[in-house]
Amino acid sequence: MAKEKKIVNITEESEKSKEKFGKDAKGNIIKLEDQGNNEQRAKTKRIFAVILWVIAIACEIIAILRLTDKISLFAQMDKTTFLIIFIILDLLFFVPGSLLWKKANHIDPISEKDKAKFWIWNNLGTILSVLAFLPIIVFVLLNKDLDKKSKTIVTAVASVALIIAGVSSYDFNPVSSEALEQAQKEVMAVNGTDTVYWAKHSKKYHVDPDCPAFSQSEEIYEGTVAQAYEHNLTEPCRRCIPELHEDHEEENDKKDN
Ligand SMILES: [Zn+2]
Repeated sequence: MAKEKKIVNITEESEKSKEKFGKDAKGNIIKLEDQGNNEQRAKTKRIFAVILWVIAIACEIIAILRLTDKISLFAQMDKTTFLIIFIILDLLFFVPGSLLWKKANHIDPISEKDKAKFWIWNNLGTILSVLAFLPIIVFVLLNKDLDKKSKTIVTAVASVALIIAGVSSYDFNPVSSEALEQAQKEVMAVNGTDTVYWAKHSKKYHVDPDCPAFSQSEEIYEGTVAQAYEHNLTEPCRRCIPELHEDHEEENDKKDN
């Protein structure tokens, strides 16, 4: 017998999404309201992402200016320490910027019709990470005043920061507007609404709150497909979408929760 489950509605917990869907006279699924709210939320996140990236790159510029004796900020501090602190500051501003950018792209995905644009847009953080950390490495290596040991330390710190920034900015699971629309249509076709469910550790979203995958879950979340995508759940559970289940082997079932 299944455990008693508590269903938590995501919309009541977070900002209310205006997204609504319905069917027209011919039974085609149409949008009743636009995704204005999601677009606005994504836009705010993108603006903050750009601000954080600008601050990060400003930290790098300050480090370069101090290295090349153009400024004498914290003159009593030795150069190596100053450079390391500002490279770390650069990283501390850069990564949250990229995470916000990726989040915005899951809330308000762009079309994948233009493959190059889609890749650049989704991985803009990774592209900018080169700008945020490579120049300082080049300046340090070309610098004539810094001793060899300091050069090695600063270059190592900046290289590690570049790798951390590059990898954390990369979207390993990019979402396109076409994929989101397709997912919404599939769910609508099954239960007439675009409501889906997931548990805390779910890797997929479910259309059925009584899906066997939830047998161990005490609390499950209810939200729209868009909200599931926002939580990085972009795969449907094929056990509770029978139409999808038919085209797939049982091997998928094992991973469905
Ligand atoms: Zn399921």
